[in-house]
Amino acid sequence: MSKQTLSFQAEVAQLLHLVTHSLYSNPEIFVRELVSNASDACDKLRFEALNNAALFENAPNLEVRVTFDKDAKTLTITDNGIGMSAQEAIDHLGTIAKSGTKDFMGKLSGDQKQDAQLIGQFGVGFYSGFIVADKITVESRRAGLQASEGVRWVSGGSGDFEVETIDRSARGTSVILHLRGDAEEYLNAWKLKQVIGKYSDHISLPILMEKEEWKESEKEGEPGAMVKTGEWETVNKASALWTRPKKEVTDEQYADFYKAISHDFEAPLTWAHNRVEGNTEYTQLLYIPAKAPFDLWNRDKKAGVKLYVKRVFIMDDAEALLPSYLRFVKGVIDSADLPLNVSRELLQESRDVRAIREGSTKRVLSMLEDLAKHDRHDAPAEGTDGVTDVVDADDKAKEGKYSKFYAEFGAVLKEGLGEDFGNRERLAKLLRFASTTSDTVSVGFADYKARMKEGQDAIYYITADNLAAAKNSPQLEVFKKKGIEVLLMTDRVDEWALNYLQDFDGTPLQSVAKGAVDLGKLQDEAEKKAAEEAAEAFKPVLAKLKEALKDKAEDVRVTSRLVDSPACLVVQDDGMSTQLARMLKQAGQKAPESKPVLEVNPEHALVKKLDGSVHFHDLAHILFDQALLAEGGLPDDPAAYVKRVNALLA
Ligand code: ADP
Repeated sequence: MSKQTLSFQAEVAQLLHLVTHSLYSNPEIFVRELVSNASDACDKLRFEALNNAALFENAPNLEVRVTFDKDAKTLTITDNGIGMSAQEAIDHLGTIAKSGTKDFMGKLSGDQKQDAQLIGQFGVGFYSGFIVADKITVESRRAGLQASEGVRWVSGGSGDFEVETIDRSARGTSVILHLRGDAEEYLNAWKLKQVIGKYSDHISLPILMEKEEWKESEKEGEPGAMVKTGEWETVNKASALWTRPKKEVTDEQYADFYKAISHDFEAPLTWAHNRVEGNTEYTQLLYIPAKAPFDLWNRDKKAGVKLYVKRVFIMDDAEALLPSYLRFVKGVIDSADLPLNVSRELLQESRDVRAIREGSTKRVLSMLEDLAKHDRHDAPAEGTDGVTDVVDADDKAKEGKYSKFYAEFGAVLKEGLGEDFGNRERLAKLLRFASTTSDTVSVGFADYKARMKEGQDAIYYITADNLAAAKNSPQLEVFKKKGIEVLLMTDRVDEWALNYLQDFDGTPLQSVAKGAVDLGKLQDEAEKKAAEEAAEAFKPVLAKLKEALKDKAEDVRVTSRLVDSPACLVVQDDGMSTQLARMLKQAGQKAPESKPVLEVNPEHALVKKLDGSVHFHDLAHILFDQALLAEGGLPDDPAAYVKRVNALLA
């Protein structure tokens, strides 16, 4: 292939612009990203060589070399890993394969500070080289190809790049950074060692640098200089972090390792590092991130846990190791029992993997329970499985972390109610909601139960599109009047998730927008009697209302749940809420066609006017449509609604 110039995919060009314009405040992360790519490339070679040892080309010692040239102002990171073919260089360095990239780019605001934050969630990888370089040359040869099938890739980091085939006898990849004038500090062995130590100590491969020594000048009066000796030394610890004893790893090292495997810029909220022994033996190092990644809601979002077997990297994103509702967890699981040639299919069926999955799920739940316990809002957590050795800073540092976690990942955690029956009770304890007495999402079911009124026998909740709609919903009126707390649920998954939770600790959960309200012991005899009488007197009007609204309402009945509003819509006990049905329709999915029940408040002036009114038909429809509007819906025929209201106003 002779030299050709190709354009970056539009998203890459955007990313590059961003990298060079917003990430200069923390330039040294390029070392972490490039060394981590080099290490991944070696991991991939080792994995492919399990089935094809010839790929090692008689050089099985995998390593990374970092060199610099002061005169040429270049810094070079070379690995002898899997390498790239010409086509792979074009594909991997010219396009971004992550799904959801386009949407992500659409979110960028142009505000450098904000975008720098966002980009941390995305991960810049290879392109971080352009923070310090105004040109990058990549030379590579894929393991197993001929020396004549090497590739050179060159780009100045704007719209395009050049590729050509070259001769390259060495397997693997060299990334040559042509440093900008303001990045020349990296042409210094001491500086490089310091940065490599910070970001790459946990990399299990040796990172080598050429030794230098001081040499006096031969000319009298001239200063000496550091010169290269031709000997190489390993400048990182070169032992995988999770294989080290906990005592020997600092919090900072744990956090740096997290950043390296997750490409996140922010430190994790907490982590757990354990060696599990028993029928299955494995080491787990699991992290809870502080920020949700940009693609948390992508259907094909990758899982976050890497699988190793006896320290050999097997695969990224091993989804069999944790249930999908814990997809935000990052980390490493290193099994002592699985075969090295384990495939994704095999993982699904392995008993060892099932044990790892159960153990890791429980570990994550204990970490969360531990955070919840230290959150100020919280009652002491129960149900930890005897875990005492969660590695973390002191208790004080855990304060407030659970709310932070919950704001980012609470909605994902709720999926667990439907996905993980075995841990449903533990999960239910971890849920938090806003309520009619708390605007912040901080009320757990246990807190709610502790505050229940004498005679109250259900946990009441309402689902709505947002907090304001939930708070102002007419269905809450009688609960407000009686001072009964109602949980306000505004996440899209709430209604679906709550289907799987009929009760909490023996107390049933009851939607205030479903079925008839039965306040039971909370209503006194006089109130009950008055309600019955009102209903009796209202019967003839009710019959006429049912007739007028027979196309819209399943039923019309008198209610005691309303105080200030004339009417509201409810669904049958086993029905889908109108709000969920609306959401499904918006998403283009089928929702069961069921008509809601209209409940009217016979005490309301508007409802009183119905009897004998010449506008009966119009009033009936207005009542119904307004009840729909009040819960965020739209009348089927908005124009007809406006016409009716206007006629009455006039
Ligand atoms: P990521 O590592 O998150 O996939 P990068 O932008 O860092 O994203 O790299 C893109 C791709 O380029 C990698 O997935 C890999 O296929 C390839 N690549 C990068 N560096 C190397 C390397 N040193 N050796 C082989 N392939 C590499």
